[in-house]
Amino acid sequence: SKVQVGFIGLGNMGKPMAKNLLNNGYPLIATDIFPESCKELQGLGAQILDSPAEVAENVDRIITMLPSSPNVIDVYTGPNGILRKVRKGSLLIDSSTIDPSVSKEMAAAAEKMGAVFMDAPVSGGVGAASSGKLTFMVGGAKEEFAAAKELLSCMGSNVVYCGQVGTGQSAKICNNMLLAIGMIGTAETMNLGIRLGLDPKLLAKILNMSSGRCWSSDTYNPVPGVMEGVPSANNYQGGFGTTLMAKDLGLAQNTASNTKTPIPLGSLAHQIYRMMCARGYASKDFSSVFQFLREEESGQ
Ligand code: NAD
Repeated sequence: SKVQVGFIGLGNMGKPMAKNLLNNGYPLIATDIFPESCKELQGLGAQILDSPAEVAENVDRIITMLPSSPNVIDVYTGPNGILRKVRKGSLLIDSSTIDPSVSKEMAAAAEKMGAVFMDAPVSGGVGAASSGKLTFMVGGAKEEFAAAKELLSCMGSNVVYCGQVGTGQSAKICNNMLLAIGMIGTAETMNLGIRLGLDPKLLAKILNMSSGRCWSSDTYNPVPGVMEGVPSANNYQGGFGTTLMAKDLGLAQNTASNTKTPIPLGSLAHQIYRMMCARGYASKDFSSVFQFLREEESGQ
């Protein structure tokens, strides 16, 4: 039978990812600070413990899937963190999207304890997490990549080695900046078409056979009624929260400032998602930028 794996952070993404590890025959030990999110996996046979430290005591492979940098710092280096009890030689894989410099700090702290840390953020959304078709962007020691890939392949169809620790995050931040720009562009385009009298389903069909096609138009359309099984079909619940997108654009902004790189559209996208967070969209899926634009226009 396969080795036990630890999983920390059973939210929108972590839960379906952990399920796929179980389905691939890996016994799981998991934890989340929000007890409700553990129930379903417990029902499927996962053992639930109270803290990351307790998980670390019992396994030597751990995956973390947490919202942002402060949560990752807490789960690894906090008073009940993984590194308090980590076993020597453990492989620690963080799939959260966080600041690359924090990934480097966590890797250095893990190394002091004789463990290996890798960053492996994902792209694909909740749909791809459920179907095991995520893309993983992996940073860390090349010698450890094969061991990481063995686990990540249960949850993703693409597992790409990017380079030293932190480079997975860099790739992910670039992807999400383009995703945000594409989503806002898709939402404002669809809205303009609707205002011009076009049927949104027809317009989406035309975009998807034309040069405006993108992931936000053909896989995750932001307009209610255009597609089934996406957050826009469910009042923008679930999916990828607006707060998380604002966080990723903040990371893009920081890295661009540090490297003196111009990102005019990335900066504008950051401001738009920050405004949405302040206006009640924080916990809705990021495709709700379509609804935000509609409300702006009706207010005129
Ligand atoms: P989420 O907020 O739904 O889930 C995060 C989980 O972590 C929650 O269940 C929360 O209770 C738990 N948690 C927070 N602090 C904890 C702690 N100290 N100890 C234990 N558990 C803790 O977020 P998500 O949508 O699953 O996203 C997770 C990460 O993946 C984020 O960095 C996000 O940017 C990234 N991501 C999300 C998507 C998406 O479509 N949702 C896609 C790609 C990447």
